[in-house]
Amino acid sequence: MENKHLDVFEELHDQLLNYPRNTLWDEYLKVIVREQLKQFKYSDSGFEPEKLSRQQIYARAKKTDENRVDSQTAKNAVKTSKLKSTLTAFIDSQPDCKKAFLQLGYKPIIVATTSDGGSKNKALLWMDIQAINSANVEQEHIDEVSLLETDEDSDDEDLSSVTYERKATSDIKLSLLVRLFFKKGELKMLSVSGISLMLLLMLSALVDILIVIYSILVLLLLSDLPSFKLWQAMVFLVFIPVAYLNWRYFLMPLQSLPQHRVIKAPMFFANINDDNADIEMYRNKDKLNIARITEFTAVCPICSGVIELANGKPDQKPPLVGRCKEAPHAHVYSFDRMTMKGYFLGVPDYLINMESKD
Ligand SMILES: [Zn+2]
Repeated sequence: MENKHLDVFEELHDQLLNYPRNTLWDEYLKVIVREQLKQFKYSDSGFEPEKLSRQQIYARAKKTDENRVDSQTAKNAVKTSKLKSTLTAFIDSQPDCKKAFLQLGYKPIIVATTSDGGSKNKALLWMDIQAINSANVEQEHIDEVSLLETDEDSDDEDLSSVTYERKATSDIKLSLLVRLFFKKGELKMLSVSGISLMLLLMLSALVDILIVIYSILVLLLLSDLPSFKLWQAMVFLVFIPVAYLNWRYFLMPLQSLPQHRVIKAPMFFANINDDNADIEMYRNKDKLNIARITEFTAVCPICSGVIELANGKPDQKPPLVGRCKEAPHAHVYSFDRMTMKGYFLGVPDYLINMESKD
């Protein structure tokens, strides 16, 4: 029996790593199975599951300190019934995985219980195995589930809206360029560094224009410049796309910041390893404009992937929308920086079909 546990968990662990979907629910499953395996290696008397609290699962999946996660957040985020259905759906969607468990005769299941302490928030979760096609185990399991459902809030999932979170500026790794001008990720527009950044940007725009004019002049006057070889003129031509890229992807987005209030940070703003960052402009109590590097994210209600802000073009009207990293063109939500809410913008009738499926 012990070997079966180990085989089943290792199989699931490998499958989760082989088919990474990078969604929060898959991450919870990974955390749970990893803890079972870790504990397994050190246990010598049969299978003793490693029971985890919701806070522990949530914190490990989000890679934060579990002491910073309050129990209500964890309770809302980690729902036993959803974990069970995600596990079943994962196995069903991977033919290799399904076949492997059929061969072993066992499949992994999520088990949960409330602790003896009586506190409803202290439900513990772990993973066990279940013989496939065994009516007895199935019945036992169902009894356990029906006991359990009472401790959870009703699972009325609203797929049509999302709630965004603003990342603390201190949690974003800033690039050298930003650290040069932004103090702790913030920049007062009417300060010395704010004005010098503006001047630098204007200068780079001017240089862009000069490069283009100069390159065109060189080409036009090529025949009148005997010392100038064609290949030298070609070198100047290379500068035109560079100037265009600087203009299009660096200066253009920045100039829309005052009207749009939130924009995607252009390249060079976030650290290379930490590729997603947004710039938000707000007025402080002295009515001064301040630009701040931050990141808006949400959890996709459809697949639990990460929703990041992205360009609305070409399929959406607003310039900035929230797109799920797992399905960027199907799971699309609007973005409102004041309410931090977003509503489904994706394919019409998509949600209706999704909800009627359940
Ligand atoms: Zn999604």
